[in-house]
Amino acid sequence: MPNPESWFSPDYTTARSRFREAATAAGAALHTIGLTAAGPRGEPLAIDIAWLGAPRPRHVFLHTTGMHGVEAYTGSAVQLALLDSPPAPGPEEAVILVHVLNPYGMAWLRRTNENNVDLNRNFLVNGEAFTGAPELYRVLDPLLNPPSPPARDGFPVRAAALAMRRGFHRVKQAIAEGQYEFDRGLFFGGRELQEGPRLFCAWLQEHVGYAAYVFALDLHTGLGRRGTDTVVLEPGASATAPSALGGALGRTLVDPNRPSVAYTVRGSYGSALSHLLPRSRIDFALQEIGTYPPLKVLHALREENRWHFHGDGSIVHPTKLRLREALCPAAVDWRRKAVNRGVTLARAAARWSFGNER
Ligand SMILES: [Zn+2]
Repeated sequence: MPNPESWFSPDYTTARSRFREAATAAGAALHTIGLTAAGPRGEPLAIDIAWLGAPRPRHVFLHTTGMHGVEAYTGSAVQLALLDSPPAPGPEEAVILVHVLNPYGMAWLRRTNENNVDLNRNFLVNGEAFTGAPELYRVLDPLLNPPSPPARDGFPVRAAALAMRRGFHRVKQAIAEGQYEFDRGLFFGGRELQEGPRLFCAWLQEHVGYAAYVFALDLHTGLGRRGTDTVVLEPGASATAPSALGGALGRTLVDPNRPSVAYTVRGSYGSALSHLLPRSRIDFALQEIGTYPPLKVLHALREENRWHFHGDGSIVHPTKLRLREALCPAAVDWRRKAVNRGVTLARAAARWSFGNER
């Protein structure tokens, strides 16, 4: 395998063309979902999808990355490494790699999309209203989302004091659960289903809707111990019992209802899948590859968000580079581990997806 660091691309457009080339070289069919928003140099943005294997499969392994824009630098690297030696689906199987669900965020070095929407809080496809915010989030809003350009203002100390006073898990849950009221705030879930998710949902229903079994694995970075990964389930999102799924993946799976590195969210992609694909048996897991401590990541998100709304938002700015570092560290050892973790779990999940009716 080439140097794992070589899979990482410097920008969205480079990552995109590398993905398309690698997919073609691997014999995959390419699907493209074009989007309205553009990159910082006016470059077009799209969700690219590589489809390996049967055109009408019974069993599908569905790998998604870049739900959180800037996290796609790692997701894209993992998919390029996978395509270098792709899993071999049988006659009734397919491997579907979805490259960067939020290309705007990758191109602009943001976690959110063009409307400041956190896409993993945006999949309210079961009729739930796009309203509300945790009570504690309202209290935290002035601290999280100050209406001023980036500046040193004692955030780490103030945030740590608050977490001590209110309880770390409670504060984490309130911040990260998703909110639908503060449209310039962090973890904003939007007022409606966004263009990218809407088109991707329609694509899924059209192309994957008849599959008997779908294993969906969604790759993220940020949470957990640096260089290790956590595989998180979502309540009700998997048909297979956690212990059996964990056995198949060779991993202990994290229940988000228990206090841990994880938390529960509203409007997540994982929870939407069974509504979108009612005819398929679905298992879902979210892989998080750890980078930095949560407060450091949150601080980077906060400063970049201030720059976006109260600075000029250009991508050549320390807050942008800091956010990218927070979610995709430049250190060679981290990158090697991240690619290794991402590829290893994807291969195990693909093996489990194939040939099983369950
Ligand atoms: Zn994420």
